[in-house]
Amino acid sequence: MSCGNARVGGILPRKCFSGIGRQERLSPLLFYGKTPAGGCLVATLPASEKGAFRRVERGSLVKRRSGIEAEGRRPIACIIPPFLLERMAEAGDSAIRRRAVVDLAQATAVHAVRDLVRTMPSLLATPSPSCCRDRLIYDAGGSDNLPGRLVRREGDRRSRDPAVNEAYDHSGATYDFYSEVFGRNSLDDAGMTLISSVHAGEADGEGYQPMNNAFWNGSQMAYGDGDGLVFGRFTQALDVVAHELTHGVQSFTSNLVYRGESGALNEHFADVFGVLVRQWSQAGAAKRGRRKEGASTKDRKATSRSERSWLIGAELVVPAATRRAVRDMQHPGTAFVNDPLLGTDPQPAHWKDRYRGTADRGGVHINSGIANRAFVLAAEALDDEPWQTAGRIWYDTMLEIPSRASFADAARVTTRIARDDHGAVAAEAVREAWKAVGVKVSAAKRAAGAA
Ligand SMILES: [Zn+2]
Repeated sequence: MSCGNARVGGILPRKCFSGIGRQERLSPLLFYGKTPAGGCLVATLPASEKGAFRRVERGSLVKRRSGIEAEGRRPIACIIPPFLLERMAEAGDSAIRRRAVVDLAQATAVHAVRDLVRTMPSLLATPSPSCCRDRLIYDAGGSDNLPGRLVRREGDRRSRDPAVNEAYDHSGATYDFYSEVFGRNSLDDAGMTLISSVHAGEADGEGYQPMNNAFWNGSQMAYGDGDGLVFGRFTQALDVVAHELTHGVQSFTSNLVYRGESGALNEHFADVFGVLVRQWSQAGAAKRGRRKEGASTKDRKATSRSERSWLIGAELVVPAATRRAVRDMQHPGTAFVNDPLLGTDPQPAHWKDRYRGTADRGGVHINSGIANRAFVLAAEALDDEPWQTAGRIWYDTMLEIPSRASFADAARVTTRIARDDHGAVAAEAVREAWKAVGVKVSAAKRAAGAA
């Protein structure tokens, strides 16, 4: 299809969609252009056929996709999954639509770097000068020029900018969690410096917009300030920061391929340790508070089951009756329901309902809900804090699971590690948890303890 006369910001010429069937015309369409990175979203076309589009170069409009069935692009591993951005790209509000289109293009570019880093993670690692916790916080000044201006180093006084302090505190809490709970020295277990840029922006052809996402690009974190309508400042949520940094840990360990079942497991491990860092940090704060008040050791149990939150990104979403978080690990599919901008959470809670399509790299942010629920069930069945037995089993699994692992592999490895290192009760809890979400560990393989 030739659309060489398309103008940036103009009306899409009728001949550009002359081959589109009636059914497809009724729903908003998303158009993808060819880029060296493999293609990115360049325009939206509402049903009125008058959608403005941007970043279209002469002759570059080559593909059309509808809804979330958009393949052929590079994967996106930001905290906000592509199907949500695509949904927002279809919003009636032009400001939201414009922002979502830019976010998708940005995420695509980021992933070109991440793909490289996946094969050579040590390439971009900055070694800590002291071989222990070392953080650098930069201010990107609303641009995409990373990292930006250095505003806080390890040990510096607090800043007047809350985003700087949140990035500093949350990357520090993530470092401390991995160090104190698992004895891991930073993402690479070799003291890599944790670099964050706050106030990251995105160019949209008319200037910079605050980024509506957060990402780990293989060498550093970057946080946007959000649109204030759906998402707030991305540094606010500790679980979001820890989720992204766990993608970093994975690039140095299991390196799970970011597609299909292994990709959903990659997202799953990022959610597990994202939520555990938050729970562990909150428990530490609660314990410190109780010590101050002189409470007895009877209240040592930091969190009761009913107090535990398994939400991802609850602090991130702008409150509304139709949304509570980005994901709910305990009750997948309920984080947002009939939301005018986000739609309904597509995560299944059981293997039989797994997503089988090609969107979202084969459902990496969708099917992760199944494994997330298995983890919560295992953790809740064990009589200690979730980061203790269950967290340790999942951490050891993340270190050794093969990069193309399936859900059945994850069930088998977690069950074997539970049995070998934590005993029969733990093994039973883990096996039952996987069984409850429809992933069975076969008897023969269980006996062989195969990985
Ligand atoms: Zn992720």
